[in-house]
Amino acid sequence: MKVLIVDDSPIMRSLIKSALTSNGITELTEAEHGKQALETLKTGTFDLILLDWNMPELDGLQTLKEIKKSGLATPVMMVTTESEKQRVVEAICAGAKDYLIKPFEPAGLIAKVNGIFKRAAQPA
Ligand SMILES: [Mg+2]
Repeated sequence: MKVLIVDDSPIMRSLIKSALTSNGITELTEAEHGKQALETLKTGTFDLILLDWNMPELDGLQTLKEIKKSGLATPVMMVTTESEKQRVVEAICAGAKDYLIKPFEPAGLIAKVNGIFKRAAQPA
């Protein structure tokens, strides 16, 4: 499973990385903001995108909209703070598969990630 982690916080990226790595998901790529994420997505295929909301250059919601506009079917999970929780509906309407509220327990992240992979594996 290849996962693209998009977050402007190096600490958050490493928290996510260690949670995924300790659950056997080791093909991880990082991007610092939305613009870099869109560039990275042109270079290869991913099974999941974990997308922070507040970022410089291009925020998570705008990035999500760009991803969807490009026709890419890779599932996206928003990683948001409590204050953006009310806006999560907006992200779901824009095509996000799920969301995770920061701060999170590693087990909570893994449960959501596995849920997305499971649903992706089911025939439509
Ligand atoms: Mg951020």
